[in-house]
Amino acid sequence: MPTQVLPVPVTIISGFLGAGKTTLLYRMLTQSDQKLGVLVNDFASINIDAALIENTQPDRIALTNGCVCCTIQDDLIASALKLIQASPFLDRIIVETSGISLPSSVASAFQMSPVKDRFIVDRIFCLVDAAEFLDLDYESTEIAIDQAAASDILFLNKCDLVSVTVLDGIEQMLWRALPAMRIVRTVNAEIPWSILLEPAFERDRRQDGPAVVATLEKPHQHDVSQFSSWSWSSNRPVSEAAFRAAIESLSAGIMRAKGIVYFVGCPDERAILQLVGRRASLDLQPCSGGRRQSAVVMIGRAGLLEPADLDLLFAGVTEPFVEHDQKGDRAVIA
Ligand SMILES: [Zn+2]
Repeated sequence: MPTQVLPVPVTIISGFLGAGKTTLLYRMLTQSDQKLGVLVNDFASINIDAALIENTQPDRIALTNGCVCCTIQDDLIASALKLIQASPFLDRIIVETSGISLPSSVASAFQMSPVKDRFIVDRIFCLVDAAEFLDLDYESTEIAIDQAAASDILFLNKCDLVSVTVLDGIEQMLWRALPAMRIVRTVNAEIPWSILLEPAFERDRRQDGPAVVATLEKPHQHDVSQFSSWSWSSNRPVSEAAFRAAIESLSAGIMRAKGIVYFVGCPDERAILQLVGRRASLDLQPCSGGRRQSAVVMIGRAGLLEPADLDLLFAGVTEPFVEHDQKGDRAVIA
């Protein structure tokens, strides 16, 4: 009986909160003819990213409620083993890390006994949000640069949102910290396929061994307690006006929010919320049937994200269920 060829190549997608990791993952899943296994990590307790890629068909596992590089590293490896057991002919595993994970620690988890013969981390990509990078606070900038430092190539994403002068400035700043960094400017994580899965690149990496080996001895300076997350979900219909007002009233301490929301009067659509720093968008997508459960997660600096305030704010965005009797009168049933 044929068996899985080992080691299985692993690609790690890294990048700070909102840099475009899920967009890149989605591109890889929809454009590749390879058999891909996927591990998606979300620091919050609800994994919106995993829900957003649900229409694609690879094996995938959501890792929630912790950071895959530290607090739930054991889950990462157990899930990767589960993927290769359940699907023995995987060409590759892709790990989308949470926005605060350090890819060097994720890579080192794959290179430890007893799993080091089963996986080879052959690519680490890092995305940087060109529109937000210069506005990150000091600690967040450090995390973003640590993520880049452990990566093979950096995609400076969302280049359409800022001027060439700003892009040049970000690149100079990154090169001062990381003089040898390969930087590719991108829009919507549109990265040439030859860069993502170029065979020569893969061969080079395998012969030389993963570049991450050099970073394995680096102390793990990563404190997830700097961040807190908040999650909300409801199966009640959501008022679009109230929801938009709630998003506009969010404090500046919220660094990232994302969600899937089902509005009253839109039976065939769902809204995808994306908030990164000061920018928020709400895009409608067609959807059919299924469970209409809205969910939102937010990540912010600990102390600046107040769960009790957010609970109160979002308690006001839903409407009660209503039922119409034969005369057309409305009756509130919940
Ligand atoms: Zn971590």
